[in-house]
Amino acid sequence: MTVVHRSPAPHVVIVGGGGTGGALALDLALRGLRVTLVERGEITSGTTGRHHGLLHSGARYAVNDPESAAECIQENQLLRRVAPGSFEENDGLFVGLDEEDMAYGEKLFAACGETGIPARWLSAAEALRLEPNLNPALKGAIQVPDATFDAMRLPLRWFATAKAHGALIQPFCEVTSLIVHDKCVTGVRGRDHRTERDFEISADIVVNASGPWAEKVAAMAGVDVPIQPSPGVLLALRGRFCNMVINRMHKSGDGDIVVPQRALSIVGTSSWIVDDPDDLGVPEDHVQKMYEEGAKLIPAVRSAPFRQAWSAARPLIGSRGAATGRELSRTFKCFDHMERDGVEGFVTISGGKGTTARAMAETTADVVCRKLGVDAPCRTRDTVLLPHTAYYTA
Ligand SMILES: Cc1cc2nc3c(=O)[nH]c(=O)nc-3n(C[C@H](O)[C@H](O)[C@H](O)COP(=O)(O)OP(=O)(O)OC[C@H]3O[C@@H](n4cnc5c(N)ncnc54)[C@H](O)[C@@H]3O)c2cc1C
Repeated sequence: MTVVHRSPAPHVVIVGGGGTGGALALDLALRGLRVTLVERGEITSGTTGRHHGLLHSGARYAVNDPESAAECIQENQLLRRVAPGSFEENDGLFVGLDEEDMAYGEKLFAACGETGIPARWLSAAEALRLEPNLNPALKGAIQVPDATFDAMRLPLRWFATAKAHGALIQPFCEVTSLIVHDKCVTGVRGRDHRTERDFEISADIVVNASGPWAEKVAAMAGVDVPIQPSPGVLLALRGRFCNMVINRMHKSGDGDIVVPQRALSIVGTSSWIVDDPDDLGVPEDHVQKMYEEGAKLIPAVRSAPFRQAWSAARPLIGSRGAATGRELSRTFKCFDHMERDGVEGFVTISGGKGTTARAMAETTADVVCRKLGVDAPCRTRDTVLLPHTAYYTA
């Protein structure tokens, strides 16, 4: 692989082609930097292409994780403007099935108010009018501005627009080591799986945007980042049983979301902790739990035809020792390894949600520009994205 850039601007190499890397490639390209993104597989083949496709309102995190909730609602509103056509603007319901749920609903409603998430109470009859397949025994519901999107196609719009602004996107290029001189990262080495040839790319800064693999990539620079890969199982069923995103009105638990995606219903998810994000598996008892818990929200789930079950790992920030991952925040963090570890030229971004990828990119690009002495504002807040199909034609 030969990387040829025409402009003399500083060069940033991004490791990881998920939503975070794609949004970052666009942000940096719009600020006038030269960008090369390397992804070991196909673009979005990590966690990004395998999640529910829920554009979080933030309500799910409002009670226990208000920082993440506030990030979600801000991005939820912003992304609808810059990515028109990518969302089914269907809203979500938090459904209370018993008195305990309804007590949690009071806390949820108050927390939505505190974090700026529009929310309104619905009676059981109102909720059933909107979603006739809900459990008819429900006690009440809260409506919030959740939405749905295609987990692969929305990020492809960042990649497409980044390419149109000069970024080089290199799928199937795996970074196997970082080039480090005197505690300064000056580039990456790896293998191009398309040609089976090794490559070497020099950079002014390398950004580690490798999601749940961030700990492994950081170790190549001799630094430790506290990433806990936390997988969850998703179950796709044939049949669209709801038009809104249906959430259980309780503290996050297994099988308590049903997301409509085209003619399917996706039931999610579970949560556990692994050491290796390449070794997840799909535990059968988790699949059964999706059926059981999902059917409490929508009884038709119990006998719906199976389409697929899979797992993906969240890149959560937290020191080792977490029990299931549910206790860890969904917020994100950008590490400047010079400030933290005395290693220059190397930055890690991790944590967050698919919903907050653009905000993660903005924070990271601010750090990169500060380090490079580049004075350029973020433009991803108001740059309307190209359609996902432009990724293949640009
Ligand atoms: C079960 C589940 C459900 C979820 N549901 C939702 C949801 O509905 N809505 C939402 O907003 N969020 C959801 N999330 C969270 C969301 O999926 C993640 O936060 C997000 O996808 C992370 O994106 P990323 O780009 O940081 O990581 P990734 O998408 O994992 O991207 C990292 C990339 O780095 C690549 N890489 C790794 N090592 C190397 C290397 N050495 N060289 C080159 N490339 C490398 C990987 O192949 C990968 O493609 C969910 C997560 C899980 C696990």
